[in-house]
Amino acid sequence: MVWERRWHPLREEWVTVTSHRNSRPWSGSEISQVVTEQPAFDPDCYLCPGNTRVSGIANDSYKDVFVFDNDHPSFSLKAPTGLEASPGFYSSAPATGITRVVCYTPAHNLSLAELEESAIQNLFDCWARQTEELTSRPEIDHVFVFENKGEIIGVSNPHPHCQIYATSFVLKATETEVNAIRKYHEEHEKSLFREIINNELNDGRRVIVENEDALAFVPYFARFPYETYVVPKKTHQFIFELSGTERMALVQALKTVLVKFDNLWQMSFPYVLTLHQAPCDGAQYPQYHFHIQIHPPLRQPGLQKFLAGAELGGDTYLNDACPEETALELQAQPDVHYKEAG
Ligand SMILES: [Zn+2]
Repeated sequence: MVWERRWHPLREEWVTVTSHRNSRPWSGSEISQVVTEQPAFDPDCYLCPGNTRVSGIANDSYKDVFVFDNDHPSFSLKAPTGLEASPGFYSSAPATGITRVVCYTPAHNLSLAELEESAIQNLFDCWARQTEELTSRPEIDHVFVFENKGEIIGVSNPHPHCQIYATSFVLKATETEVNAIRKYHEEHEKSLFREIINNELNDGRRVIVENEDALAFVPYFARFPYETYVVPKKTHQFIFELSGTERMALVQALKTVLVKFDNLWQMSFPYVLTLHQAPCDGAQYPQYHFHIQIHPPLRQPGLQKFLAGAELGGDTYLNDACPEETALELQAQPDVHYKEAG
């Protein structure tokens, strides 16, 4: 049993780990696990090749990855910049940026976990090209790539895809990490992220995958059950700075993690996957370590971890699942996807 607070060095906050609460009586609703078989092509899907989107624009008849500008952007270069003066105390700023959608594959019914490594490699190359192009634009200060997967996250379209937010400001999580990393370097003359990697490798209990150039682990300070970081061993600020070998190693580590997730409960495992890259606002961030974070919303099959009083009201995370135990569960899962294993 673990019942303690753990320091989250990248967010500079405490996380309470209460693994004994995971077996507490539950009388709430269960998430339906009814799986409807999806076709490889869906004529009504706005992401499938050749289909016309709500904007009236037709998708290319694409063969691997396909990128387009979001038809319903949260941020846009067209957002008004000449704002009315805010009334004294309150302040406002333009919501400018570029938002894009990346379809991983023409196949409507595959998930990232089920793609061949070569297809994931193509996707990584696409993320790298997009990041390189967008970070070079003077009006962009930050490039954030993320995938919301699963109906539980609010994604109704199963077609595998992610989004890119390239914004004129830095997203809060990255800003917090940047400040924590800078502060740690000033106080200890060490790289905070390298310390995390070294400590996870030395401890070893939470490591899910390790190869020559990459590593996947459930962090000591995980806020969510099965939360996993997938990281290159060398420090780079952006995905496009990774060598071909490093990119391949990271692809292999990510694919293994996602296959283990699906194998855990023999279901398509929902998650929020985010690429954490340095700001591109003109300043230098030599200690910033590009990495991937995955936050799953389920704590048991069909049971959602709700963000409630402590998290939403108290801004303090409670994790019902002990990171060492969830890591053990993931380590025990086979590396071959259950659908392939038959
Ligand atoms: Zn589709």
